[in-house]
Amino acid sequence: MFSGILINKDDNGQTVEVAQIDEAQLPEGDVTIAVDYSTLNYKDGLAITGSSPVVRSFPMVPGIDLAGTVTETSHPDWAVGDKVVLNGWGVGEGHWGGLAQKARLNGDWLVALPSAFTAKQSMAIGTAGYTAALCVDTLVNYGITPDQGEILVTGASGGVGSFAVSLLKAAGFTVAASTGKASEADYLKGLGADTIIDRAELSEKGRPLQKERWAGVVDSVGSFTLANACAQTKYRGAVAACGLAQGPDFNTTVMPFILRGVALLGVDSVMAPRAPRLAAWKRLAEDLDTAALDVIAQEISLAEAIDAAKGLLEGKVRGRIVVDVNR
Ligand code: NDP
Repeated sequence: MFSGILINKDDNGQTVEVAQIDEAQLPEGDVTIAVDYSTLNYKDGLAITGSSPVVRSFPMVPGIDLAGTVTETSHPDWAVGDKVVLNGWGVGEGHWGGLAQKARLNGDWLVALPSAFTAKQSMAIGTAGYTAALCVDTLVNYGITPDQGEILVTGASGGVGSFAVSLLKAAGFTVAASTGKASEADYLKGLGADTIIDRAELSEKGRPLQKERWAGVVDSVGSFTLANACAQTKYRGAVAACGLAQGPDFNTTVMPFILRGVALLGVDSVMAPRAPRLAAWKRLAEDLDTAALDVIAQEISLAEAIDAAKGLLEGKVRGRIVVDVNR
């Protein structure tokens, strides 16, 4: 038996508890993992509270991220004792996830824990940090270089935004951080932001073409913010879009794309193939200052994760939450 958060649903609605689960109930997979740490992402908050239908089958163990040690394997790439990390692939949505002491899944989904990080640090990074690294790789692979000008990061004090600021700075870029929290200016400058922008400048409907300001953009906000970011991007610049914190709508015109050759590049972390995953974790391992992770992340227990999920959705959490599934 092992402990895990279990979500059930019946005609009376959804229930969530820390349950004792029989190993025989673990889903199919060629690798079994003793989980050390998981984390709480926005999507986990939606799953645990049931406020959005992200869980596709019940009962479900939530948790889209995990770090742990291989205990059983028939997969050619993994041996017993290997330290591994999992992000996405529908885990915690359609396949049992990381908020439990054990997980069984497809070995193709795993990456080796980078030697630069402990299991706990890898979960302080989690999907937020890994997605930020995918966004930075997307701009760099497109051909954006530091000499072309400033990079705008929206939602900068959030999980994706914080890591994007830090990684862009480490890659030599000049970074403008857009935030709604004036009180987080020092935090963002500490991470590497050169300029702080009030997000109100970007969040209302704007003109289709505006003064050219940005060589590139990492946007985790969507809606009018993304439309304005595109309208302010320089000739042949690029915008990496990964989120919808302001909203999923995107009402704009084709002007930035057809008159300035601006590229709008979508970033998905869940189903991203193996090569970009490995590249993203390599960037994190090489460029991230691990000291910052202790400032960004707070640790909680498995039982505390249920209440913390509610707080997360209410916007009460700053930085990242790491879950020690063994306490
Ligand atoms: P967080 O909640 O940590 O950060 C979001 C930030 O966006 C907030 O901190 C805030 O930053 C800003 N924000 C919030 N509400 C608004 C608003 N109404 N208008 C403008 N800005 C707002 O979330 P994450 O960083 O973890 O995720 C960010 C987004 O990226 C989410 O939409 C998430 O679903 C998505 N995502 C997508 C992934 C993918 O695979 N494509 C993977 C991971 C996340 P500030 O106060 O500094 O302005």
